[in-house]
Amino acid sequence: MAVEQVSSVFDTILVLDFGSQYSHLITRRLREFNIYAEMLPCTQKISELSWKPKGVILSGGPYSVYAEDAPHVDHDVFKLNVPILGICYGMQELAWINGKQVGRGEKREYGPATLNVLDKSDPLFANIDHSTVWMSHGDKLHGLPTGFKTIATSDNSPYCGIVHEKEPIYGIQFHPEVTHSTQGKQLLKNFAVNLCHANQNWTMENFIETEIQRIRDLVGPTAEVIGAVSGGVDSTVASKLMTEAIGNRFHAILVDNGVLRLNEAATVKKTLVEGLGINLTVVDASEEFLSKLKGVTDPEKKRKIIGNTFIHVFEREAEKIKPKDGQEIQYLLQGTLYPDVIESISFKGPSQTIKTHHNVGGLLDNMKLKLIEPLRELFKDEVRHLGELLGISHELVWRHPFPGPGIAIRVLGEVTKEQVAIARKADYIYIEEIRKAGLYDKISQAFACLLPVKSVGVMGDQRTYEQVIALRAIETTDFMTADWYPFEHSFLKKVASRIVNEVDGVARVTYDITSKPPATVEWE
Ligand code: GLN
Repeated sequence: MAVEQVSSVFDTILVLDFGSQYSHLITRRLREFNIYAEMLPCTQKISELSWKPKGVILSGGPYSVYAEDAPHVDHDVFKLNVPILGICYGMQELAWINGKQVGRGEKREYGPATLNVLDKSDPLFANIDHSTVWMSHGDKLHGLPTGFKTIATSDNSPYCGIVHEKEPIYGIQFHPEVTHSTQGKQLLKNFAVNLCHANQNWTMENFIETEIQRIRDLVGPTAEVIGAVSGGVDSTVASKLMTEAIGNRFHAILVDNGVLRLNEAATVKKTLVEGLGINLTVVDASEEFLSKLKGVTDPEKKRKIIGNTFIHVFEREAEKIKPKDGQEIQYLLQGTLYPDVIESISFKGPSQTIKTHHNVGGLLDNMKLKLIEPLRELFKDEVRHLGELLGISHELVWRHPFPGPGIAIRVLGEVTKEQVAIARKADYIYIEEIRKAGLYDKISQAFACLLPVKSVGVMGDQRTYEQVIALRAIETTDFMTADWYPFEHSFLKKVASRIVNEVDGVARVTYDITSKPPATVEWE
């Protein structure tokens, strides 16, 4: 059987997104107990789905159902004859459809409330009476929708939980997807397992199998695929998966742009080729990149130059890869993850098209390639788990993110070979000490930056006038907000001392104690 998409193989709960900031958490939670869930915008036409969901969840949203421009669900959703759960706006939408008993509440309700279950035999509320639930709404139901009954209340919400008298159609006023709802995950599980009877078979072990088949079906028996690797977890996992599926018909290219980490190209080559059997070509284009960066100090210009040069070098190298039998390369591998997909399809999202990395966008147009994205259904922790199952080392799977323009944006001011060497060495020492101290996995991202200022120092009774290294380390869960890592003073002392002693050209080390916002993670 041809495997077109994950949702046609795994039992899937469809989450229709009405724009709540928590919508993606619904899919997250369901996957935590091995049920595959996919989010689509609330405007999705049910007749255009190529697969049938086991159940549908209508998310919360910032709108009021009675407002003129409010979004509404396609009524064909009721023809699917599967259980439906409306959460907050989703419940108000069900009420609006069945009698329009929705309006502004006397007061907003935001924060914790205690759930009081009236019908303890209802499968949705199995094992969750009297738990704390999280509220976030200003509108409320003024009465029961036609054909529904109340099965739960809270102090402020007389219709905290409702169900249709005959059909498995539920509405809840609170948000089970946030961790503040203490039994929220249990409720989602009750819905998906007890009511929708979805199979709990969404595991990375099962994913590997279906994904390999899906890649083979898509690519066919002869076509070739090309992809860029960076040494990071996403591109490595995607490349390993491609290799498992089509062997040497997948061609990985690592472009050494001269601003990678110390020894990075050699290390990546060893890991990918020897360790993982990936068909990799390493291209040393460092001189080309560095000569284009000459004299450039503006961070945006640096990024553009690196992006454009990358496209140029990649295309040139791709030309040299002439697969046997006169086959053309037809596909470009891209390590897109689910959060990028969610961002682009979310109802209030900035655009309806999938966001592609600017490099990839250019390559697709110029080289007439089709995109292949084997990780596009996965969250980051799923990718990491997948990587471990594919035999990729813990160290690589848990590696900190590294920006595309690399050390070029960690050398502030002009990027020269000498400056890159200084930044690289300082970074290497810093990361080595972090690893030795057993802190690497506790920190989300750490790096050294070379500042474009000189400061006066004294070494061996001689006056010095040399550069400054700034160290940065942050903790974050989503990189949207971040705080700096509170190292022990003794640790900072040791790193600073090693850097000034071992890195020529550096006479001073500082530690960046700014959170994001107002600062960003990177300095440029
Ligand atoms: N906007 C609606 C209200 O204020 C729904 C809120 C929500 O879904 N969280 O009640």
